[in-house]
Amino acid sequence: MAKNSKTIISGPEAVRVRFAPSPTGYLHIGSARTAFFNWLFAKKTKGKFILRIEDTDMSRHMEEPIDLIMDSLKWLGINWDEGPDTGGNFGPYRQSQRKDIYSSYAGKMIADGNAYYCFCSQEKLAEKRQSFIEGRGSDYYEYDRECYYLAKDKIEQNLKEGIPYTVRLLVPDDYDIAFTDTVYGPISVNSGTQEDFIIIRSNGLPTYNFSAAVDDILMEITHVIRGEDHLSNTPKQILIYKALDEELPVFTHLPMIHGADGQKLSKRHGSISIEAYRDEGFLPEALRNYLALLGWAFDEKTTVFSSNDLINKFSLKDINKKPAKFDYEKLLWLNGYYIRQMPEKELEKLLAKRVTSADISIKGKNITDKNIAAVLPAIKKIIPLIKERVKTLKEARDITVKFFEDINYENDFIEYIKSNKERALGITEDALSLLKNIDDFSHQGIEAALRSISEKRNIGFRKVAEIIRAAIWGARVSPPMFGTMEILGKDTCIARLDSFMDMLS
Ligand code: GLU
Repeated sequence: MAKNSKTIISGPEAVRVRFAPSPTGYLHIGSARTAFFNWLFAKKTKGKFILRIEDTDMSRHMEEPIDLIMDSLKWLGINWDEGPDTGGNFGPYRQSQRKDIYSSYAGKMIADGNAYYCFCSQEKLAEKRQSFIEGRGSDYYEYDRECYYLAKDKIEQNLKEGIPYTVRLLVPDDYDIAFTDTVYGPISVNSGTQEDFIIIRSNGLPTYNFSAAVDDILMEITHVIRGEDHLSNTPKQILIYKALDEELPVFTHLPMIHGADGQKLSKRHGSISIEAYRDEGFLPEALRNYLALLGWAFDEKTTVFSSNDLINKFSLKDINKKPAKFDYEKLLWLNGYYIRQMPEKELEKLLAKRVTSADISIKGKNITDKNIAAVLPAIKKIIPLIKERVKTLKEARDITVKFFEDINYENDFIEYIKSNKERALGITEDALSLLKNIDDFSHQGIEAALRSISEKRNIGFRKVAEIIRAAIWGARVSPPMFGTMEILGKDTCIARLDSFMDMLS
């Protein structure tokens, strides 16, 4: 029997968890959720959170995706205690720099009789597969251990001749591979279902199951928390723990994440990279909150959790095995909530940053972080106007930018306004003469002037407002109109009403 798993929250031993991404591209929602659950558990238990990069496949250039993953984690506020950039006592933390470690462990396993050299070529293995399948009449195939029975001299001769080889684990016969997953409960698999799988490939590099298990052992990982897609790898990794006579960590597999259509979350469902969410103007605190809800629930109703709440309340035992549903609307709602809660000063900074990166200019000059001061007073005024209604920073930025740009008319709206041209002309004319004459071009002053039009003409204010909105904003929907006009200023409003008159007549 393998040594028993540790209890779920280990006693005096400090918790050590890891996030071990393969740098294949962006950090996507599912991986970010895995990282966050590990981080939360480390924080909760005052343990250590380790970032390990699984980049043994040297055929690809990895620097860029590694940086992207680290940047996304940092942006999310998921910081690590040990990792490739921070170092630590268990490094290196990039598997590409640990090749010698894997070779020496494989060597030790061969010496102990728990693994063996396999000199079978790809072609030979393909033939074996073919005849095995034909003989049995089923798709099932497992390696027949031919090389396990090679005589010692033959092995030495092959090695001397430089015949390429892989290293295979010798899987014990009829052994009960048993463990208790925190989420999926007791799982037991007979070793007869596992062939002597490869732990070192013919190019000398380890396979995922081998390097992950060796590193989890050497990095003294107490809890392996990862996606459910790795559940089927766990028996293999347990066999490696057994061969090395090591105690098992606690395994926790997180439920899959599905899109609204019940299919595994993928690009088809829209943005799935953390980078895309950042660009779309999601706040890290909103995303963190949302990630926590993907498979974990404190109770039936609570949705909003600060990070401190999460650290206090998070427990591996409350993770659900049902696939989690990714609900974009809920994430949007949460983001809007966090935007509303955000101190205005902070929002101002974030918005200013987005405005400077937008391609807009005032008086012919592009707004950059050097001349942002010119628009900051306006941004300060715009924030209270839009804060309650926007759901992302991008939306906030798009509205803000409109305050500085030339008006852009929504054609179908203007056509609709033109369908009652006389009234539109009359109202625009009234507005022009009233607004030209008011000294107090404030929210209140503007409101009083415009409301008097509706009284004079005995029509609902909504009718007046839609014409004014068409003239000064060009679109059906605008931020609250009087405030918008105050920020645009008297000159701009008058100029826009004037051009609108021209458009109508
Ligand atoms: N490199 C694996 C992945 O990105 C990690 C699996 C694990 O956590 O063991 O899926």
